[in-house]
Amino acid sequence: MAEKDLNDLFLDTLKDIYYAEKQIYKSLPKMAKAASSDKLRAAFEKHHGETEGQIERLEEIFELLGKPARGKKCDAIEGILDEGKEIMEEYTGAPALDAGLLASAQAVEHYEIARYGTLKSWAAKLSMASAVRLLDQTLAEEKKTDDTLSQIAETAVNAEAA
Ligand code: FE
Ligand code: FE
Ligand code: FE
Repeated sequence: MAEKDLNDLFLDTLKDIYYAEKQIYKSLPKMAKAASSDKLRAAFEKHHGETEGQIERLEEIFELLGKPARGKKCDAIEGILDEGKEIMEEYTGAPALDAGLLASAQAVEHYEIARYGTLKSWAAKLSMASAVRLLDQTLAEEKKTDDTLSQIAETAVNAEAA
């Protein structure tokens, strides 16, 4: 087997998160539709728009690398999104539905934060300043979304569910 280095790992992980973002982009409107809280629905809709920009940033990075933008199946995001789907099916109309949706959405954000944090540090190691900047912009959006979701959970949704 050829000796794979950090460049290979960076590209493979970029493909992983590219696949994941596309799946997330498809799921967010379904989660928005399922949410009963207006605040939660608005948060999902806002992040759907941001996700479109995040996909474009990843495409810019593929371009910087001179590689075609191509996803590679991410089993982790498939599993996290499947759990979210299960909540939507099993808690339809229930008081705890939004609490479950929030938990699923935060699992998604935490996966993304882990991936973007890693990619950013690898890009720095590989002296790819433009990629660092693009990855950092997305990382900041994912962290902010996670904070917003925590706030919604604490101020409204969990009390409703209890
Ligand atoms: Fe994202
Ligand atoms: Fe993955
Ligand atoms: Fe996100």
